[in-house]
Amino acid sequence: MNQVTALAKEHQAEKVVRIVVRIGPLSGIEARLLESAFTISRAGTLAEDAELVTEEQPVCVLCNVCGTESAACVNQLICASCGSCDTKLLSGDELILARVELENPD
Ligand SMILES: [Zn+2]
Repeated sequence: MNQVTALAKEHQAEKVVRIVVRIGPLSGIEARLLESAFTISRAGTLAEDAELVTEEQPVCVLCNVCGTESAACVNQLICASCGSCDTKLLSGDELILARVELENPD
């Protein structure tokens, strides 16, 4: 939230229209909880009327055996190509502030 209001000030925006956040399913953050935290923290800020949009990120793994990058299930980080579970997580555990839409005075 501080990041959002700092950005708005930086761009001399009148208000924040929309905030887009990307959440990986392995981040441990639930969109619902984020939304309620957002509702509380935005009161009295430039983002008071902003809409919060959450986008779920896919889980991606890199196989240490065959080198394939593939999508994986949250509970099963296995290679889609060879079935190995010796994989490295590439994405799915992030919480990213993807986009902030601002309204500027004309
Ligand atoms: Zn593999």
